[in-house]
Amino acid sequence: MAKKYDGYQSYDYLEKNLDYRPFKLASDTDRVEAYQVKLTVEQKKRYHELVENNLIIALHEHPTVMPDDLNQLMEYEKQGREVTGFTGLANSCIDVIFDNMMDGTCVIHSKSGWKWEDVIHDIGMRTCDIDHQNLLIKGEKIVDFYKAKENGQIAWVKAVESATMIENEVERIEILYGLGVRMMGITYSESNNLGSGLKEKVDGGLTIFGGQAVERMNKVGMAIDVSHAGDQTALDVINYSKKPVFITHIGARSLWNIKRLKPDNVFKACAANGGVIGIEAAPHTTITKDNPAHNLDSFMEHFEYIKELVGIDHLAFGADTLFGDHVGLHDLFSANMSIDQQTATMHKRIPYVKGLENPVEATDNIIRWLIKNNYSNQEIIKVMGKNIVRVLKECWHD
Ligand SMILES: [Zn+2]
Repeated sequence: MAKKYDGYQSYDYLEKNLDYRPFKLASDTDRVEAYQVKLTVEQKKRYHELVENNLIIALHEHPTVMPDDLNQLMEYEKQGREVTGFTGLANSCIDVIFDNMMDGTCVIHSKSGWKWEDVIHDIGMRTCDIDHQNLLIKGEKIVDFYKAKENGQIAWVKAVESATMIENEVERIEILYGLGVRMMGITYSESNNLGSGLKEKVDGGLTIFGGQAVERMNKVGMAIDVSHAGDQTALDVINYSKKPVFITHIGARSLWNIKRLKPDNVFKACAANGGVIGIEAAPHTTITKDNPAHNLDSFMEHFEYIKELVGIDHLAFGADTLFGDHVGLHDLFSANMSIDQQTATMHKRIPYVKGLENPVEATDNIIRWLIKNNYSNQEIIKVMGKNIVRVLKECWHD
């Protein structure tokens, strides 16, 4: 079903130049040459039936648009007014999108990021923008997902990748929930009061305060993500949480040995506790020895490897893309985003991930790849949404 879209652009309710400084932005429809997995007529029919009749959920995304000239990125981020890629999203098959906001680039008043004031600014500003249009609706309950699908809209789920900004205040979890946040990471790549991040040499595991935060998230009904936590901290969270835990954007370290990916035992623990693992497509992450240049095939190698390990009921996709030059953004924010420098010499550097360039292209090609590679409709329905809904029914209050 075609999306309901009236052409609204971010902050149209204001006057450009008078109320805020506009930036020339990257295109959210054709920044790079489009690449689409080719299907036969019969396969195309299956594609349309699948996306028409089932929830398509992007478990970890950043559907915002970056400046065309990345030299302006810092000024753009400092304005605290990220633009949503409405035109791009209007042409997608996505029904539900988990938006991880500014995360590592949330440096409105800070150099290092993850400040309470900045995260609240980002959430409030983006929500104000979303409240002035009709393509995205707030995705705060599962019923919102079906409402969006029915009406040709997209349920917009607010998520934050780290709990760093709650500092030592467990009640801030409720404040974030009140502002619509329905999923939160335990740490980013740096450690915080809750536990150790993935870039640490020594992983101290979940702290006592971290345990209290996990408990509060369970009680409040906020889903937990351990994608950026250290291995031990991730295992501790999975063991401690009374609800299943998500690893929303990740790949297998067994296939490509970098800290940003996780070992088999963490995936097994996550699945044993009923959780779901989303596959990551941010540049230079889900690479393999057979495909050292990051692309759709190397990404799907990670999917198939983890699927063999834990079963299809525990898989999903969290492509972690955006509209704009993601490689350039990584270069500029390598310190904030803890890009593993060790890998820079190992992989083949690419300008963008072909076939997974933005949330729209990624979701479309994932479904196409699954059809082309003979996955059954039931399997595709599970990994594109059903598995996520099952876990959210346990984590959320409704
Ligand atoms: Zn991330």
